[in-house]
This record gives sequence, structure tokens and C-alpha cells, in this order.
Amino acid sequence: MSQAPIFPGTVSASGRPATLGVMGGGQLGRMFVHAAQRLGYFTAVLDPDPHSPAGLVSHHHVQTDYSDASGLAQLAALSDAVTTEFENVPAGALQTLAGRRPVAPGAAAVAIAQNRIEEKSHFVACAHVSGVSCAPYAVIETPAQLEAVPAELLPGILKTARMGYDGKGQVRVKNAAELAAAWGELKQVPCVLEKLMPLKAECSVIVARGWNGDIVGFAPQRNVHVDGILAVTHAYESNMPAALALRAQAATKSIANHIGYVGVLCVEFFVIDDGSEHGGLIVNEMAPRPHNSGHHTMDACDVSQFDLQVHAMAALPLPAPRQHSPAIMLNLLGDVWFDPQGQMRTPDWQAVLALPGAHLHLYGKLHARPGRKMGHLNITGADLAGVKATARKAADILGLPGLDGI
Ligand code: ADP
Ligand code: MG
Repeated sequence: MSQAPIFPGTVSASGRPATLGVMGGGQLGRMFVHAAQRLGYFTAVLDPDPHSPAGLVSHHHVQTDYSDASGLAQLAALSDAVTTEFENVPAGALQTLAGRRPVAPGAAAVAIAQNRIEEKSHFVACAHVSGVSCAPYAVIETPAQLEAVPAELLPGILKTARMGYDGKGQVRVKNAAELAAAWGELKQVPCVLEKLMPLKAECSVIVARGWNGDIVGFAPQRNVHVDGILAVTHAYESNMPAALALRAQAATKSIANHIGYVGVLCVEFFVIDDGSEHGGLIVNEMAPRPHNSGHHTMDACDVSQFDLQVHAMAALPLPAPRQHSPAIMLNLLGDVWFDPQGQMRTPDWQAVLALPGAHLHLYGKLHARPGRKMGHLNITGADLAGVKATARKAADILGLPGLDGI
């Protein structure tokens, strides 16, 4: 597919400045808007929330539901191209927009990422090229499929096919009785049961693919989750065995190429203990957008994942990113805004901002709640030992989890 470049700073015949649109106004949309504006684009956000983090900083904010025909028409009229910042945007809305403007990623790719059943079929279909398979699984949409689940998938994790994120919509089950009860708990919606894998580590890879098939990517990052939510990302050369890192990068590119993906794609992997020296690689899931585990790229790389999102959708060249500093990203959840007695407080920014190489990013959310993503802290430095030491200090100041043993 080819697409004419949309250059920043240009003005259309009708007098409209080059404008990039985004479906969704969360923090990922906000960081996309910042990247687009820095390059000189105007921006348009569609999100029903009048206080959405991206809507607050965008030139235009269309405040309607994602499927609202007039909202979609407004976004299309305002924008030269449209992207998305969350995978649960209705695929039909992206199709509608695609009738008027270039949309990247497209509805078909987003639909795959929205549904674990389709996502896994995609990974299985790519396995002969990517060389990486997913965890053994079974689809459960009917009582007969529940009955037929092979014993070797247990213990396992039952995951809803749709709308799962940050560990939500998942139940760990040890045996057939627990599985049946869990499916009932999940209201018998379509699910996948995945075998519980012996995880040594988790990692993810972010790539950007253009309309012309050019593809560039970042090195894999190692991720630490706490209570199902990303807590820490380790982004430096020794974060995982080099052989596994190369395989994960190649697999991610083949997963993007297989569906002619356009835009930024993140693929999550498990490193499992399979008895081999470095462990085996299993593909877990994909996100059709920039990802929380790529936030270090904003300060540790010469081009961030949001810059590449802008370049890809606007058909600009895709420069290979270069990481110029080792980095650790610490996620800042709303928990940080509460003291051990549960009283609200302002985190000790005075101490955090005094740390060399600490880059604070807050998303403009006014109400902190436990588990709510409020911001992140990127730590960069000249050498890894220094980065680790600073990350430990920051985690101590803010009471952040997930850094044990570094
Ligand atoms: P989410 O959409 O919530 O990110 P994931 O499928 O990535 O859902 O699961 C969240 C976390 O649960 C993973 O990052 C991993 O820590 C753990 N997990 C998920 N599936 C498995 C599995 N099959 N075996 C072991 N751990 C798993
Ligand atoms: Mg995940």
C-alpha cells in the first residue's frame, strides 16, 4: 500500500493546517499529541471525557462516543490521517474513518488485537515465520468446549477474549471444577484458557511499520509486573540474553509484516524455563499502538515510540531509532498519592526531581486512585550501575514496587 506523505506545517487548499487525529484521549494519546505538535502538526482527539489527558492538550477535542457518526465525521473533517491509542476502539468506527482518511493501524489489525481468540490464531498462523508459538490454549465459548478442555492445560489462566487489560478479566484456575466456576464468574463470555507457563521473565518489542512496508524497531525491554500491572521496564543491553532478544525482535517484525500492519505495534513475550540455557520464548499478546513498556524511549532514544507513531501514520520516513542511554522506567500508579495510612499526599517530587537523570512524566489526571496510571519516571544515565542506583533511590522515595534484586 502506498500513501502520500502528510508534511507538518503545510496548509490544505481549504486553509486547514496539517492535522493528525487520534481515537482515544488517554495518556498514550496525550504523548502522541505532544510528539505530533513538536513536529509542527495540529492535532485532533476524539474522546467523550471533557477532561481526557489528550483532549486537554490537543488543538481540537471532539467530545463524543467512539461510535458516534457525527463525532467520527468531525474527526475525519479535522484530520489528514487518524490513529488510535487504545485497542478497544470499535473496529467499525475505524472502518468508517477509513472511508474518508488514511487510518493506521487499520480496523482489521485492531480487531485482531481486540480479541484474544483471533490474536492467538494470528500468532499460530505466523509461527512458521516468527519461530515463536503462544502458550498452549483452548477456546471456551460453549459448555461443550468447557467439558472438552484437556487436562494438560491445567493449572491455567482463564482470560476473557475481549476487554482484558492490566490483568483484568483473568482468573487463575487449578482444576476442572475451578475452571467451570471461573467461567461462570466471567458470565460465560467467550474466553481462552491458557496453560500456566513457568515464567523466568517477560519482555516486549516495539516496532513501527510504514505504508510502504518499511519497518524499524527498538531493542526488547524486560518488564516486571506487580498485581497484573506493569511496574518496571528495564531497557538496556544486558536486560536479557542476546540470542533471545534477536529472536523476539525478528518475531515481532514477522507478526507485523504478516498482516501488512501500519503504525506502532508492541508484542509481549514470556521467557519460560524450558530447561535450555537461556529459556524459551513464547508470544503472549500484542497492542496495536505505543505501549507502556516503551515509555523509556521518550528519554533514552533519539526517536520515541510516539515519534514513530507520527511518522508511520503520516507516511514520513521511518528512521531506525538509536538508544543513547541505558534506562529504567518506573510506572507511577495512583497508590503513590496515598500514605501508608491511606491519607492523600503529594508525592515527594522535590526529592525525585533532584535525582540526576530522572525524567518525570505526569499525564494530567486530577484524581489519583490506587492502580490508576498517573505517570511514569524514566531514569537515564551514562552507565547502567548509575541508572540502577538512581532507580533504587527513586523507588525508595516514592515507595514503588518491582525493583527487588536489581
Ligand atoms: P493483560 O491484557 O492484562 O496484559 P496478559 O495476558 O498480558 O493480560 O496477562 C497479564 C500478566 O499475567 C502477564 O504479563 C503475566 O505476568 C501473567 N500471565 C498471563 N498469562 C500467563 C500464562 N499463560 N502463564 C503465566 N503467566 C501468565
Ligand atoms: Mg499484557
